[in-house]
Amino acid sequence: MSVDEPLSASCAPVHAPMAQFGRRDGELLVGGEPLSRLAVRAGQTPFYAYDRGLLRERVATLRTALPAAIKLHFAMKANPLPALVGFMAGLVDGIDVASSGELRVALDAGADPHEISFAGPGKREAELRQAVASRVLVNVESMREVRLLEGIASELGLPARVAVRVNPDFELKGSGVKMSGGPKPFGIDAEQVPGVLDQIERSGLAFEGFHLFAGSQNLRADAIVEAQQKSFDLALRLAVSAPAPVRFLNLGGGFGIPYFPGEQALDLAPIGANLDRLVARAKTELPHASLVIELGRYLVGEAGIYVTRIVDRKVSRGQVFLVTDGGLNHHLAASGNFGQVFRKNHPVTISKRAAATQTEIASVVGPLCTPLDLLADRMALPVAEVGDLVVVFQSGAYGASASPQAFLGHPHCIEILV
Ligand SMILES: *Cc1c(COP(=O)(O)O)cnc(C)c1O
Repeated sequence: MSVDEPLSASCAPVHAPMAQFGRRDGELLVGGEPLSRLAVRAGQTPFYAYDRGLLRERVATLRTALPAAIKLHFAMKANPLPALVGFMAGLVDGIDVASSGELRVALDAGADPHEISFAGPGKREAELRQAVASRVLVNVESMREVRLLEGIASELGLPARVAVRVNPDFELKGSGVKMSGGPKPFGIDAEQVPGVLDQIERSGLAFEGFHLFAGSQNLRADAIVEAQQKSFDLALRLAVSAPAPVRFLNLGGGFGIPYFPGEQALDLAPIGANLDRLVARAKTELPHASLVIELGRYLVGEAGIYVTRIVDRKVSRGQVFLVTDGGLNHHLAASGNFGQVFRKNHPVTISKRAAATQTEIASVVGPLCTPLDLLADRMALPVAEVGDLVVVFQSGAYGASASPQAFLGHPHCIEILV
């Protein structure tokens, strides 16, 4: 809905139902456990809780909707909690990392190094050395990386496994975050790739394929289908200049989840149908290639909640403020300060021990002394008191690790896997 359409209470867009978590009386259940008991188990608020059952279910849903030949990778930038990465490593086919720290967590988690790929602009020399020594695949993003890898491979006496990360000449339409098309710091412009492939051959690097990532947080299946189609076609054109057969074609991801009123879950069916066609084409056109989809938030985002406790309830000139013990310091995205242009509410609720009978319009704010610390702006919520728990849904991705925990010196949150 555009901003100039009149809003009436009856037609106002609403949040998608957060039906993934069960409820008993008024209380949310996470992994079958009532939230108030989980808070005791966690030992403190605020905390993030991630539900293993929901993570498993999500992977199973994807396996059903997408062709069996598609490899599923977890982009651990979305949630680098070591216990969660370890759990995901047992469910998916590979892990995508974007720093030496993430690489360490993925290796510790027991992920197969052959199925770890390492992307990111500005890889330091030490990181490239670490990647070669670990025998993971490096998605090279510049000529400099190719030259450094040549030296590192000969110094270590190990092959440098590389794929070329391509900055395509198109973008992922309707994406929350655009990461390709036009001038970008990510990857190598498609028109420069043949020259880089030539250098890879002369440097004796082990070429394995291409990585294309067009964008993130997309809820339009048609846009994702189009980007995957174009990525495949571009990879086919570039493969002509490759020094070795393509073994690995990462078509990106960008699958979004509904955060805001009016947004709906992504329809996987057209994406699966399109990937069926691409798998069939790959059999003849790129016969050595595995096709990979890399997903972050779609895998983990809906399986996690952020939980914070109400420490004060205030009324200011008629407006109710519920003041909690955590806010943007733990959950920057829910405060609207992680890439949002116009602030909109994430799905938020109050979890009470007894079924709530009344609702009211209230704002939820954190304890930070800044107006940016807002978790819910004038939402209809069950009437809440001091001690009740506030739940922010869709919080399994880009939560704790993407938030400025040191800002204002409040206690850090904790994270639990249930
Ligand atoms: C951030 C990122 C991802 C994950 O994006 P999601 O929106 O969490 O799925 C995947 N691949 C690359 C290269 C990224 O930079």
